[in-house]
Amino acid sequence: MTFKELNIIPPILKALSKEGYTSPTPIQEQSIPAVLDGRDLLGCAQTGTGKTAAFSLPIIQLLSEQTSSVSAGRRIRSLILTPTRELALQIDENIKAYSQFTSIRCTAIVGGVSQKAQERALHQGADILIATPGRLLDLMNQKRVDLQFVKILVLDEADRMLDMGFIHDVKRIITKMPVKKQTLFFSATMPPEIDKMVKSLLVNPVKVEI
Ligand code: AMP
Repeated sequence: MTFKELNIIPPILKALSKEGYTSPTPIQEQSIPAVLDGRDLLGCAQTGTGKTAAFSLPIIQLLSEQTSSVSAGRRIRSLILTPTRELALQIDENIKAYSQFTSIRCTAIVGGVSQKAQERALHQGADILIATPGRLLDLMNQKRVDLQFVKILVLDEADRMLDMGFIHDVKRIITKMPVKKQTLFFSATMPPEIDKMVKSLLVNPVKVEI
């Protein structure tokens, strides 16, 4: 299997070849067609399996195929929530690499650093926002982030967000975006609280297990 056979568009193929990716990993083979099809996804996968590209590549592709609304100002059309600053910055770096030959822009919002630079980046506009829940909620409360145009939501390492006490923040963030959206949900384990969230958030999801 190749990325081309998964119908990945040329500008992304060019970036993947520059990054030295020759073929998709198993989770990418299973996830990419489902996400491109607009389906919700439930993935049980650990970091190290190629999970980031499994959700990022089809998101970049779907958003770059939609008419860009740059004239109306760039709007956040995809939100990726992840438990730690390190994961958020890693995802941001990966998406910047994968989207370098497209017009898609992404930015990360994480705690533990000055808010100013993040405010500036938000003001300049992004199509994809990667965030840890606490800092995102702070910026939302200050009306610096608008999630009403989000079409694709990713919950990365949901069980870790639960363990770290973020689940209440995550639920509050979700209430601020449209009900009708595509949701990609990743969790290595399925404790009851996470299972409840899966059932309330996902519609007929494709299940991917590695
Ligand atoms: P992840 O599970 O998303 O943290 O990815 C683990 C590592 O594998 C990262 O360094 C990625 O850059 C790399 N990677 C992901 N997909 C591929 C692929 N198809 N070919 C080669 N490397 C990859």
